[in-house]
Amino acid sequence: MSAPLEGTVLERDGATYRVAVGGGEVRAVLRKKAKRGEERVVVGDDVALEPEAQGGLHAIVSVQPRRSLLERRVPEGRGARPVVANADRVAVVTAPRDPLPVLQLLDRLLVVAAVNEIEAEVVVNKADLDPEGAAALATRFGRAGYVVRQTSAKRGIGVDDFRADLAGRVTVVTGPSGVGKSSLLNAIQPGLALRTQEVSARVGRGRHTTVGALMVPLVAGGYIVDTPGFSEVGLWGVAPRELARCFPEFVPLLEQCRFADCTHLREPGCRVLAAVQAGSVSADRHESYVVLAAELEAEPEAWE
Ligand code: GDP
Ligand code: ZN
Repeated sequence: MSAPLEGTVLERDGATYRVAVGGGEVRAVLRKKAKRGEERVVVGDDVALEPEAQGGLHAIVSVQPRRSLLERRVPEGRGARPVVANADRVAVVTAPRDPLPVLQLLDRLLVVAAVNEIEAEVVVNKADLDPEGAAALATRFGRAGYVVRQTSAKRGIGVDDFRADLAGRVTVVTGPSGVGKSSLLNAIQPGLALRTQEVSARVGRGRHTTVGALMVPLVAGGYIVDTPGFSEVGLWGVAPRELARCFPEFVPLLEQCRFADCTHLREPGCRVLAAVQAGSVSADRHESYVVLAAELEAEPEAWE
């Protein structure tokens, strides 16, 4: 019997998994015994394989403890479905125009990362189209406490830095369609285009048809993750107090509000509101907070 192999799950296709092993790839299925367990195997999982143990296919015999887990709510029930394991970071891509940025959507994506305790950064692509607009976005997100990079996939600006930054880590790339995610990734590594459409279901592929995440190995080490439906991930079951902690620029203020249970929406003596008044926290960031807080507030009813 051969020694167990270690691998990383790149994609699930029905009952089989595509697993990166060393420099190559193998196909694997869950070992029969492991199948009934609570534990699901998801894209990004580091697994141990028993070579050709199951009808010629490799068998996944165990899963390493996860560093992080993104989960998506199951629409027709309660509970969640794991989507991606071990993501280190989320890169939220936007553009100054074509399409115009929707700040609330971008803030939401950043909050989803934070809720899941995954680092986030902002990539302002198409900087060539509107350098001033790109700089304004960089300032807005920079002031909020995020790492921001400006790029132009078209002109090759910022691409080398981004490539270097991606090396050795697992990065989920997300953002509205049309901002240049595919172009940017192609510039980073030819052939690295993602499936850019947000699809909610793929039909005609058997019983277990959900559109899963896809991980692509980077030449320099690390992975890019394409996660359809990332914006549906994990913004549920979050306590209002946790939400405020997902806005980095609020964090140093939160302990200073007059009321310990301040919601930072309307209370007197709220330091977050005071900072908005004073202009040190941007009003539209607070507006995003208000919108997301209302969404969380409304949520339990929707699931009753
Ligand atoms: P995605 O939907 O986010 O993957 O966006 P695409 O990569 O498909 O790009 C959408 C459009 O924007 C395409 O026509 C690209 O050629 C164009 N585009 C992408 N990056 C840039 C850029 O940095 N500058 C300019 N001017 N156009 C870009
Ligand atoms: Zn407050």
